[in-house]
Amino acid sequence: MSKHIQSYSSIDNTIGKMNDIELNETEWYFRDFMFRNYNTGVLQFDMEHIAGNMVKTYLRYRNAEPGHIASILRVVLENLISCKFLERRDKFVRIRDGISRLQCGKCYYICYLGNLEERLCLRCKSNELRTFPKKS
Ligand SMILES: [Zn+2]
Repeated sequence: MSKHIQSYSSIDNTIGKMNDIELNETEWYFRDFMFRNYNTGVLQFDMEHIAGNMVKTYLRYRNAEPGHIASILRVVLENLISCKFLERRDKFVRIRDGISRLQCGKCYYICYLGNLEERLCLRCKSNELRTFPKKS
């Protein structure tokens, strides 16, 4: 099992009914959310408003309870701080050193990785990541 998933399993007791799938999915959307903001020059986020903004941004969360998203995000944020994607400043989190949108050459998963993170696919751990072609 991957390091990524193990780190979530080890905190199972504190997250109750949440599961790895939900955590991983929310993390993916959150990384996407960070990437979109990063591209418009926004690097710092008030932690209180992230869940509400994700509900507004993604159809996937249109009917989600912001409080539920917020409780998942608390776990996701801890993880992303420990892997150097983000740093925490009081009630804000800040992108540490840019984000790259990459595609795995093995499983074709789209990964958004902080530039200080290990360059490994978030799904299969391959290091064959390539820059994802820009849309425009
Ligand atoms: Zn992969």
